[in-house]
Amino acid sequence: MLFGALEAGGTKMVMAIGNEHGEILEQLAIPTETPEITMSKIIDYFIDKKLDALGIGSFGPVDLDRSSKTYGYITSTPKLAWVNYNIVGKLKEALQIPVGFDTDVNASALGEATWGIMKGLSSGIYITIGTGIGVGVYMNGSLLHGMLHPEAGHVLISRHPEDTFEGICPYHPNCMEGLASGPSIEKRWNKKAFELKDNAKVWELEAYYIAEGLVNFILTLSPHKIVLGGGVMHQQQLFPLIRKEVKRLLNGYIQTPQMNDLDTYIVPASLMDNQGIMGCIQLAKQELISVS
Ligand code: ADP
Ligand code: ZN
Repeated sequence: MLFGALEAGGTKMVMAIGNEHGEILEQLAIPTETPEITMSKIIDYFIDKKLDALGIGSFGPVDLDRSSKTYGYITSTPKLAWVNYNIVGKLKEALQIPVGFDTDVNASALGEATWGIMKGLSSGIYITIGTGIGVGVYMNGSLLHGMLHPEAGHVLISRHPEDTFEGICPYHPNCMEGLASGPSIEKRWNKKAFELKDNAKVWELEAYYIAEGLVNFILTLSPHKIVLGGGVMHQQQLFPLIRKEVKRLLNGYIQTPQMNDLDTYIVPASLMDNQGIMGCIQLAKQELISVS
């Protein structure tokens, strides 16, 4: 079987063709411009591929409520050209195949749960720390939506007493994304994040904020594993710092085997940055099964 996968991001669109085993047969990325320009390129890419279904993991917020009139829309995004854009409807109409749909980070969580390091677990979360911070939640064997979908990159955290940086989130002075995303590191320290590799203070503060977020997720969602991906997490030195800080903040309150082995509990993404696109393949597969 052949599945199309579309990882719709604010800066680029990654398209791929894969099979039911999650193997990626071909892949192409194009910049995200206006829907008029970008969608016709996406349709051209997929149209002759004889696909059984398509899966989309999208930037958002998105409408995932199947009973809603705007199901399948990108809704209130800061990318203004894409506000209230019916991405699922457009692709369904053009390709005439079932289309699965979820957030980009839920797709990544699904990729890790199906083919990666969360395989076999009934729950886990995937967190991207990149241009933004997003959290995909896989819970009791399926992706969590709720009222909208988790927007847990914006959880409020307490500021480090010595940090005077105002944060970059236009909505919240002290949310995780505003204080710990890639662009916030770059604005605070006035350098590209990868150029700060040898500055220990940068990564200690970064781990301090990421750990605060993680502790909130451990306490509210109780995931069996936490997978961290995204550009910032290429700084591998963050992992031990984050684990140490999580342990300090939890202060022995949660007692499970996982808490005694944080090295295998808080882990890097395992699919060579293909977790999102592989999750989209699984979204396509699930949609095909659900409609047939
Ligand atoms: P996106 O979130 O847009 O999908 P990424 O996950 O690659 O893309 O995140 C991009 C951000 O991650 C950049 O803004 C930059 O701050 C940061 N980043 C990218 N590469 C690195 C790196 N090697 N080390 C630290 N930070 C990085
Ligand atoms: Zn925020």
